[in-house]
Amino acid sequence: MCLFCKIIAGEIPSKKVYEDDDIFAFEDINPTAPVHILVIPKKHIETLNDIKEEDEKLIGKIYTKISEIAKEKGIAEDGYRVISNCNKNGGQEVFHIHFHLLGGRKLLWPAG
Ligand code: AMP
Ligand code: ZN
Repeated sequence: MCLFCKIIAGEIPSKKVYEDDDIFAFEDINPTAPVHILVIPKKHIETLNDIKEEDEKLIGKIYTKISEIAKEKGIAEDGYRVISNCNKNGGQEVFHIHFHLLGGRKLLWPAG
């Protein structure tokens, strides 16, 4: 099982923010902003390259949930950033797709 599948299964502890049948969200262990939450599908999808047509509803649901979490965390109005890194050039370290929700401060742009 990959690191994030183990977190979903509770085999590795995490600071859970949200969970339902399809989605798990938890605090990043190495936050780079006051709010840094990882939102992931429970389905193990390795990279953005592996998203299939059948996953479209799931990916859409993740974005709806991200906006709800942003509102709950009080960062929606000031704004935030959602990042998903893919493979080597994107800087992907964990090969289970995840969406970084970053906020709580003015974020630099362009990134990287
Ligand atoms: P990426 O570079 O996009 O693959 O991001 C992986 C993210 O996972 C990084 O921001 C890490 O800080 C985070 N991370 C790694 N291990 C854990 C963990 N056990 N719990 C929470 N976040 C983690
Ligand atoms: Zn996984």
